[in-house]
Amino acid sequence: MIRTPLQYHRPATAEETTALLLEHDGDVAVLGGGSQLLPQLTRGELTVSHVVDLRGMGLCDIATEGPDIVIGALISYRDLLRSALVGDQIPHLARVARGVTGGRQLHNAATPVGAVCFGMPGTDMPAAFAGLGARYRVHGPTGTREVPAAQFHVDAYRTVLGPGEFVEAAVLAATPRVTGYCKVKHSAGSWPIVTATYCRDGESAAVTLGGLQAVPLRVPLPSRAEVGEAELRDRVDAAVTEPWSDVLAPGRYRARIAGTVAHRAYRESWENRT
Ligand SMILES: Cc1cc2nc3c(=O)[nH]c(=O)nc-3n(C[C@H](O)[C@H](O)[C@H](O)COP(=O)(O)OP(=O)(O)OC[C@H]3O[C@@H](n4cnc5c(N)ncnc54)[C@H](O)[C@@H]3O)c2cc1C
Repeated sequence: MIRTPLQYHRPATAEETTALLLEHDGDVAVLGGGSQLLPQLTRGELTVSHVVDLRGMGLCDIATEGPDIVIGALISYRDLLRSALVGDQIPHLARVARGVTGGRQLHNAATPVGAVCFGMPGTDMPAAFAGLGARYRVHGPTGTREVPAAQFHVDAYRTVLGPGEFVEAAVLAATPRVTGYCKVKHSAGSWPIVTATYCRDGESAAVTLGGLQAVPLRVPLPSRAEVGEAELRDRVDAAVTEPWSDVLAPGRYRARIAGTVAHRAYRESWENRT
């Protein structure tokens, strides 16, 4: 039960949403699927007087827009997994979503964009989107801007979103990619400790690690020449500055396994290469 008075808003347009967020700045939260927000409010970890529900605006389509695929902010994990477009064009994303735990309830309600905005270092989606070269479409007081996923997080649980801003969609180029994925977690039902998305897109290749630092870490790799395990580990080790620690694992453990996790994602990509 949420013990503090809460005013519920359901604006119909992005402009109205931004106006509400500005009017109640510091005392307002955006509601996605609510899987993080509602427990936070219930436990009293977060106290706000206003909640802005994005459902009045739609934001629940997955569609092609020119060269891009646009995934609305209210698309749930289930929607993502049911999308033929995603399965066909960005199967890596479907694979990552399939591995998110929490069961049917979580998959039905929670949104990948909500996970991105929450910004917990160990969650699957921020590093997966960053690894795939996604952008986030952000609406705010000056209109709409797109932020590369790799630049969206500034610290654990902190994003570039400013007053009045919210995410409308995740946008990904509909280009062929060679990908590989690996994640380490304690048990089938637990949250990730370190994840790695390898992606080669034309002449650009990188492995992007989640859970290793406060924000996703992108390690560029040669796109054509094969990279040996020792070299890959060295590249990852050289890129890590401050490994993330939480109740799931200390930073030194994450740093120790990161090179191996990255290499497994990379090796898998060789099986998927064209
Ligand atoms: C039981 C359980 C198991 C889980 N297992 C995993 C797992 O294995 N792997 C994993 O990666 N994650 C896991 N998660 C986390 C899950 O991915 C997130 O809880 C979920 O995706 C958050 O999305 P939401 O739509 O419910 O966000 P909400 O709870 O609605 O919002 C989260 C935060 O983001 C903000 N926000 C939401 N949408 C927007 C927006 N469009 N614009 C601006 N701000 C916004 C909210 O204000 C809030 O601060 C698990 C969660 C639970 C409860």
